[in-house]
Amino acid sequence: MDQSATRLSLPESPREFGYFVDGEMRPAGDRELYERASPGHGVPVTRIPMCSAEDLDAAVKAARQAFDDRRWSGLSGADRAAVLLKTAEGIRARAEEIAYWETLESGKPISQARAEVGGTVGMFEYAAGQARSLHGDSFNNLGDGMMGLVTREPIGVVGVITPWNFPFLILCERVPYVLAAGCTIVAKPSEFTSATSLILAEILQEAGLPDGVMNVVPGTGPVVGQAMAEHAQIDMLSFTGSTRTGRGLLTAAGSNFKKLGLELGGKNPQIVFADADLEDAADGVAFGIGFNTGQCCVSGSRLIVERSVADSFAEMVAEKFKKIRVGDPLDEAMQVGAITTDAQNSTIMGYIAQGQADGAALLYGGEQLDFGRGQYIAPTLFGGVTSDMSIAREEIFGPVLTVMPFDTVDEAIAIANDTDYGLAASVWTKNIDTALMVTRRVQAGRFWVNTTLAGGPELPIGGFKQSGWGREAGKYGVEEYTQIKSVHIEIGKRSPWIE
Ligand code: NDP
Repeated sequence: MDQSATRLSLPESPREFGYFVDGEMRPAGDRELYERASPGHGVPVTRIPMCSAEDLDAAVKAARQAFDDRRWSGLSGADRAAVLLKTAEGIRARAEEIAYWETLESGKPISQARAEVGGTVGMFEYAAGQARSLHGDSFNNLGDGMMGLVTREPIGVVGVITPWNFPFLILCERVPYVLAAGCTIVAKPSEFTSATSLILAEILQEAGLPDGVMNVVPGTGPVVGQAMAEHAQIDMLSFTGSTRTGRGLLTAAGSNFKKLGLELGGKNPQIVFADADLEDAADGVAFGIGFNTGQCCVSGSRLIVERSVADSFAEMVAEKFKKIRVGDPLDEAMQVGAITTDAQNSTIMGYIAQGQADGAALLYGGEQLDFGRGQYIAPTLFGGVTSDMSIAREEIFGPVLTVMPFDTVDEAIAIANDTDYGLAASVWTKNIDTALMVTRRVQAGRFWVNTTLAGGPELPIGGFKQSGWGREAGKYGVEEYTQIKSVHIEIGKRSPWIE
């Protein structure tokens, strides 16, 4: 472990932000300021205006106007691509600043924040290509008198509601694709982590995005989020967060039948066969649940392992857990940082207590780590888990891994599918037949074979079952934000209806 790596300092005073509407950062004025304390240090780092439903309405009006007058959707794909490519450059130029504020508000380690911000550059570059290549279809087989076209049109004003676990990354898994399609945006970040969404709005503006195309309205879910879901001038809502809140949006979005994109919870299986490279698998499994302190919708939280190696493999994972460097997110050597919110910290500790009360065996961790400040939880491993326990069924959203053994491929698949969720899954085996069979039969929107949590701008993300609707990213992500129009074109004279 390299202990000589540097540690960044905390800001001298909290940075104050405004809110971004119609091409300008508006001052907070007399709005209540939410003072965000860094979860890794417990000291105030940002002050964010809590906007009202009226502020949201002003932002929607700006986005509506910008969409309806075609200042963005009317540009060529090439012109939209130019703005997206300039945004990519802008993110590169301000990457260190974005990573720093992301770490301070979310508690994730600075090295991870830097990697995430670096990854978003490619999302804008990829979406730029999509802006140029987005197209429909043509039918030249309808006879000499008719030609058919299928065109894609931007869906309109898109509301984007994002959570606190990957504030910048999740936003950038949506915004460039929405913009590539020609839509305009009103974004609401989680009240806990708004800073980097506001910085992105500035970067887009500097890259030449027309006024009103991107708006960021920070505020609480029940006020601004709910108003977004109900707003009749928003045509589509992309929501990432809990299944509970997602379910509530179904009713609210009914006001104008807006299209919903939902990326919700997961209880994702890691299926390990005895013939896998077990060393590699143990490292992957530890990464899958340790990364971002398990606060990922795609965290691999259920280890399903072939019985012949189950005990020894659990020991290997516990050994890996021991070596994870947990601590101050501003320390470049750390791999795992703080739990992002107080409420989430209590939720995770509650599940750990419940697991023990239900009779599961605590094999590793289970405790709060005390670094003198901030809130940290040790990577935690439970054995002796049965499928009826809440730790085996519910999304904990923390560094808590349960182990269950299996005897046959069919049983492994059945355990993996025994959940309401279907977001992601991993399989570890050197047998190609097993890998393909499991990949086909386990219900999950994202799948990893002999790896986990891999991703990038090209491949779509989203879930089966109660993990959500629709797909983000890739060409599928752009297409989600379009609607299809079919056009019949008569060639020459119609045969008359009235003789
Ligand atoms: P939420 O689903 O409540 O929050 C996600 C986003 O939705 C936030 O921006 C939030 O705003 C907003 N929101 C909250 N209520 C409403 C509403 N009525 N209408 C519209 N938007 C709303 O998640 P929590 O933060 O409460 O976390 C609880 C659990 O959700 C976690 O323990 C975890 O299991 C799961 N979760 C899953 C995520 C995923 O990526 N799939 C991400 C985050 C959480 P605000 O925060 O400002 O109130």
